[in-house]
Amino acid sequence: MKRDDGLPHLIRAELPPQRFGLLTLVRAFALVLITLSALSLLFLGYVASRKADDIAVDKQFVLLENVIRDRQSLLARDQLGLARWDRSVKYITLKFRASYVIEEFVSSIWYDFGHERSFLVGPGGRLMMSAWQDKVDLTGRDLRANEDLKAIADRAIARHHVHRTTIEGGFGQKPVQAADVHTIAAFGFAEIEGEVMLATAMAIVPDDGEVALPEGDPVILISARPVDQDFVTDLNRQLEFADLSFTRNASGHLPVMSVDGQVLGSFNWSLYKPGAEIWPVVVPTVVLLCGLLLAATFVLARSIAKLSVRLEESERRNRELAHRDALSGLANRLCFDQALNEASDRLAHAPFAVIAGDLDRFKAVNDIHGHGAGDEVIRIVAQRLNEAVGESGLVGRMGGDEFVILVNAFRDRSRLSLLAHSIIQLISQPMTLSNGAIVDVGISLGIATAPEDGASARAIMSNADRALYASKQGGRGRAFFAEDLPPEGETPATGEAVHAA
Ligand code: GH3
Ligand code: MG
Repeated sequence: MKRDDGLPHLIRAELPPQRFGLLTLVRAFALVLITLSALSLLFLGYVASRKADDIAVDKQFVLLENVIRDRQSLLARDQLGLARWDRSVKYITLKFRASYVIEEFVSSIWYDFGHERSFLVGPGGRLMMSAWQDKVDLTGRDLRANEDLKAIADRAIARHHVHRTTIEGGFGQKPVQAADVHTIAAFGFAEIEGEVMLATAMAIVPDDGEVALPEGDPVILISARPVDQDFVTDLNRQLEFADLSFTRNASGHLPVMSVDGQVLGSFNWSLYKPGAEIWPVVVPTVVLLCGLLLAATFVLARSIAKLSVRLEESERRNRELAHRDALSGLANRLCFDQALNEASDRLAHAPFAVIAGDLDRFKAVNDIHGHGAGDEVIRIVAQRLNEAVGESGLVGRMGGDEFVILVNAFRDRSRLSLLAHSIIQLISQPMTLSNGAIVDVGISLGIATAPEDGASARAIMSNADRALYASKQGGRGRAFFAEDLPPEGETPATGEAVHAA
């Protein structure tokens, strides 16, 4: 029953172990928060990197298509000076002159513009001339319906008819600026003699109106650049793609289609995906943030732990103060009553005894030596009672010079008598106070045992008080057992005391 702090078990058990729960909650919450933050940032990083990749890839496609379109426009602009010329109409359309074609027309296309291949396609799909650089082949032949040269020539014819005008003696074409050349020219990739080429085609038309086109389809000039390594290198001068190449299968990123929709091959390159570049930024940021959150959690948890310890300590002190007698340090009335109630509840398993005590001649100490000296005596008495009782029970002060002892280590009469005897002996030893005065008090005791002298706390206390009263009546400095007293209401006993001072 007796503990280091002298508090009964019941009171100790009420101290709540809250600190662990609160700290665990804070840590768990912080952990969830950190995990969620890290996951959100990583997810954001992932989404941003995917988006950056998609945008970059789209941009590369647009760039390559634009550069190809530029090359087509360049081919067409070069052609314009020769195709839109009275002299070309005169010596090609109206009266074919081989010397003009070879010495002026083709040589200009090759030497001035560098168009590697050039063709003239006459009405009805007749190939009139085919040149490779400055080597001219004038062996004519009819183009097959499925030949890409024919498809692109047909497109150029269609464009010409849209822009055809009537002039004196026949037909001409609305003038166009070089920048609008795409309105009269046909562009496209074509497979010519087994090779993929970038081709442009336009009608040979008069410029000054000295000559005019006859009714029917015009002659079409086609210029073409093979899509070979030179061409790819030329494209990549602007693009700077990694490993740009052209293959004759469709496995590359950008397929190349003929004018009539056949896949001729594809451009391939290592796609630039900048998304991965954000990870060296995102990962350290996530790590830093998690570190900061962890540090904040650590600091917060430490503060909470410190605060909890202080709260617990102050709560423990408050409880102690509420259950201790301020003057003697013994259990106070509240504390003792609780301990007594606990003991009564467990009576069936653990019988116990109560010893009520009241100092003899204490008032005289106050009167002679002053109240301070009386207080000192109370403290000395408390010390001596604790010494006498030891681990056998709990000592309390009920107020004034009244003390009470709950004995639960034993309850047999002989040991209780021995305890009472040693208490009376100890208390009656002279006390030397701090002011040098020597005082002499005694103590009277009343002993009640449970369940013999009552099953309830109240009944037991009442019987112990009756026995104490009997001790006082019997001459003080002695102890009486309640069981030796006559039942309440009868003449007080003059029975034998355990000890006479
Ligand atoms: P008896 O032998 O019949 O018990 O007489 P007593 O002289 O011991 O006097 P009694 O028990 O009747 O009265 C106790 C006195 O203790 C009365 C009161 O003035 C005094 N007292 C009560 N509380 C305190 C206290 O806290 N300090 C001091 N110094 N005296 C107190
Ligand atoms: Mg007294």
